[in-house]
Amino acid sequence: MRNRRSIKRYRYSSKTKKIPLRTLYARDNGVCAWCGKEVPFYLATRDHRIPKSKGGSNKSSNLQLMCFLCNQLKGNAIVA
Ligand SMILES: [Zn+2]
Repeated sequence: MRNRRSIKRYRYSSKTKKIPLRTLYARDNGVCAWCGKEVPFYLATRDHRIPKSKGGSNKSSNLQLMCFLCNQLKGNAIVA
């Protein structure tokens, strides 16, 4: 006899979807959350307001637009 494993149902709703950068860019009007300047799309990056290491989520409410340079500076400023 074979033991049939019951199919586990994963809660897809609990999975946080990553917001597309384009959507984030549009939401924040292409303005960097740090320097407040308009960011060309090719320099735009996603940034977590609350770092994932500190329990931040991938929800759009925890994400903000940041230009590449600010993201670099911020990354260097925070000592993990
Ligand atoms: Zn910036």
